[in-house]
Amino acid sequence: MTDAYALLPEDWARLCKEAGWPGFRAKQILQGLYRDRIGAWGELTTLPGAMRDRLAACAPLALPREVARTPSGPDGVVKFLLEMADGERVETVWIPADGRVTQCVSSQVGCAMHCAFCASGQLGCVRSLAAGEIVGQVMALARAQGRYPNNIVVMGMGEPFMNYDAVLRALRTLNLQQGPNIGARHITLSTCGVVPGIERLAGEGVQFELSVSLHAPTDALRDRLMPVNRRWPIAELLAACDAYTAATGRIITYEYTLVGGLNDRPAHADALIRLLRGRKARVNLIPLSPVAEFDGRTPAHADCLAFLDALLRAGIHTTLRRSRGRQADAACGQLRLRNPKAPTHGTATEK
Ligand code: SAH
Repeated sequence: MTDAYALLPEDWARLCKEAGWPGFRAKQILQGLYRDRIGAWGELTTLPGAMRDRLAACAPLALPREVARTPSGPDGVVKFLLEMADGERVETVWIPADGRVTQCVSSQVGCAMHCAFCASGQLGCVRSLAAGEIVGQVMALARAQGRYPNNIVVMGMGEPFMNYDAVLRALRTLNLQQGPNIGARHITLSTCGVVPGIERLAGEGVQFELSVSLHAPTDALRDRLMPVNRRWPIAELLAACDAYTAATGRIITYEYTLVGGLNDRPAHADALIRLLRGRKARVNLIPLSPVAEFDGRTPAHADCLAFLDALLRAGIHTTLRRSRGRQADAACGQLRLRNPKAPTHGTATEK
């Protein structure tokens, strides 16, 4: 049994062949899934009933159930809480801007990386999502909103490179022309700095965009903020990034969350400039979003602008991310485990 949303056209062709179905059925199936966005195999009425029954048994749709949605704030950002077949829940965010929509998807239920400022990792990682569940987040919102997003960012809960195979398979599906057809350059993966993932991605021959969360220009500071740095310190991380750029020709975007007083001083900007000068790099500055468990300060707007200005003057292509989604508690780092599944075994209340 496999999630229907995890199957690529060649898998469908093989499945049809094995079942003794003519090849055109594969095309009908893909149209039903991604053009008509069926919610159950029973809706695919171009197929004979026996085929639909067989598909329901061997390739169920991992379409997560919408449990809640935060009302959209003035910026139009909507956060959805989705429930998987086993009751685990993840958040995904619909972010409209200038007539285009970006969907931020989760790759894991929770996160094991424990970055100090991020809510997603506060309770650890419950499990990784299957490829079909990652695609399923996009399908659930496409059905709810009546359209696909223009861009996908794997920047929700979870560390995508700790769930490498499922994430890559999901992104290949989202990229399919016979599928959601989201252009590779409109799909961005973000990693906290899992070096083996960067190395693997360099050899995939895909055109997805890669962002790397840096957040500090020195190992001493990055160690404090991101435990991953103790495993793969800055020099090792940047060497992998350089190799990635050399192999793919793709420029990496470094994310740098500004925390008031902690990493937003002119000296930090200078250190970051020294680190990135001469490298092919873009920088995306993100003002800290408030998270209950982290006592860092939101940076002053003037300090963000000064930091931005210093990098720009040094010739580094830099943007300051508009802070969006805060009303919906859906900004960077604010996605977290919600109403974690109640334990089903051995609880005191069980009779
Ligand atoms: N695990 C991946 C995907 C998360 S992407 C990664 O670490 O890259 C979300 C981005 O927002 C990352 O750069 C993350 O470090 C950053 N972030 C996390 N918590 C934040 C917060 N409270 N305020 C602003 N940015 C935050």
